[in-house]
Amino acid sequence: MSDAHNTLKFDTGWQYAPAPESTDHVRIDKKYGLFINGKFTAPSQGKYFTTSNPATQERLSRIAIAGKSDVNRAVKAARKAYENVWSKMPARERAKYIFRIARGLQERAREFSVIETMDGGKPIRESRDVDIPLAAAHFFYYAGWADKLEYAFPGAGVKSLGVAGQIVPWNFPLLMAAWKIAPALACGNTVVLKPAETTSLTALKLAELIQDIGLPPGVVNIVTGAGATGAALVDHPDVNKIAFTGSTAVGRSIMHSIAGTEKKYTLELGGKAANIIFADAPVDQAVEGVVNAIFFNQGHVCCAGSRLLVQESVADELIHKLKERMHTLILGNPLDKNTDIGAINSRAQLDKINSYLKIGKNEGGNMFQAPCTLPSKGYWCPPTIFTDMAQSNRLVQEEIFGPVLAIQTFRTAAEAVTKANNTPYGLSGGVWTDKGSKIFKVTSALKAGVVWANTFNKFDPTSPFGGYKESGIGREGGAHGLSAYLAMEVNHGR
Ligand code: NAP
Ligand code: MG
Repeated sequence: MSDAHNTLKFDTGWQYAPAPESTDHVRIDKKYGLFINGKFTAPSQGKYFTTSNPATQERLSRIAIAGKSDVNRAVKAARKAYENVWSKMPARERAKYIFRIARGLQERAREFSVIETMDGGKPIRESRDVDIPLAAAHFFYYAGWADKLEYAFPGAGVKSLGVAGQIVPWNFPLLMAAWKIAPALACGNTVVLKPAETTSLTALKLAELIQDIGLPPGVVNIVTGAGATGAALVDHPDVNKIAFTGSTAVGRSIMHSIAGTEKKYTLELGGKAANIIFADAPVDQAVEGVVNAIFFNQGHVCCAGSRLLVQESVADELIHKLKERMHTLILGNPLDKNTDIGAINSRAQLDKINSYLKIGKNEGGNMFQAPCTLPSKGYWCPPTIFTDMAQSNRLVQEEIFGPVLAIQTFRTAAEAVTKANNTPYGLSGGVWTDKGSKIFKVTSALKAGVVWANTFNKFDPTSPFGGYKESGIGREGGAHGLSAYLAMEVNHGR
């Protein structure tokens, strides 16, 4: 290691002035009912839960808990809308409604971004530049497919499925809802969506938008609540398809529940992606890629690059530069446009992350944390790296879903691939090198659904997404994502 690498120097001596996004244009009601058959209605048992801002711990609203009878009402509304309206409507007319949802999201993007950040804790830069524009892009993209399904699967004799039950997690609340609702509607299905308990607000705002654009009642229904509400949706006998994004543990229990039924399903589950950095990679670019892969959005990303495999000859230099970059990350008010690292989504998630920090230390890992000052209220975790990790360590094998990076080194490409593939997951990965041939060789050897080369966490509605092994079953996005919502008379093989 050269002298220049022996000391960390980063005190720039100056800081950005605060630049908080305003919240005065945002309306959050004190209480939200369930969105069933085009109207907000009270839950049958009269129960509500509180949703709060994880950066301030302030209460934002009270949200209805849907019991079994409410889920039943929602499924009935979806079935009626399917039979009487949506499945009968010419596809080009369906497309117009989906297109209107996309336009509505664009028009109200600022409001949606601010609410996403307040409810979930992610930096406004992320919700403004990624979550909301991508959600709109998914509706635009699938609006385009609605009247072209027979061209996507020529000769296959495609038909809609009926009622889709959809369950989404808290890390990309509106975006995950868009991933699920847009293709379902384009293919002629109706929907009952269950958002995650800690982040239901943007789905409820989407319900308001759906009312505003005049989508026929019952085509999209939104039932809020905890895991039991999701389970009631999974178990409902009149649901034809379950689309789930969340943890592998819950995905497994859903598979048990629907085994032996005719329900179609897609499961998008956990991940433990490795970023592989070769000695010939552009180091500064790779460091920025690693930061983007694991620290932005607090590591609350299923495909986060939570492992780093770096070639031994450049490991010291790269880790040094990574630590330098970690010194400059700005953690704090998620509504501030300068913020890089927002709040952890909930106390439960922070407890889980902290327990993994202890595990990492007990496993003999060498921990380094960015020297951030944590705000006095809210849930926070500084960006953290562990070096000296072994392949069998829990930090290398298990999904943490926080800003925690496990670092290992390798000597040959074969060793990197073996290590990268050696976890129960296979959702995503990254390769950094200036050799195109190495990119092709390594990406095809990785057992992961998405592999980025010299970049990370790039999404587009036209690309399919999904996992190998315990990361899930089925694909969402692109033309592949259509087949998850269609029955085919002739197997098309997509
Ligand atoms: P989770 O606990 O599995 O919850 C996901 C959703 O399922 C939530 O809406 C949850 O409701 C609901 N749920 C909980 N128990 C249920 C049950 N028994 N039956 C039906 N639904 C149930 O996951 P999470 O902690 O919210 O999200 C993080 C996980 O999602 C991570 O593992 C991450 O990797 C994964 N994820 C995967 C992808 C992907 O595309 N592969 C994308 C994003 C996230 P409550 O929230 O109210 O408990
Ligand atoms: Mg919240």
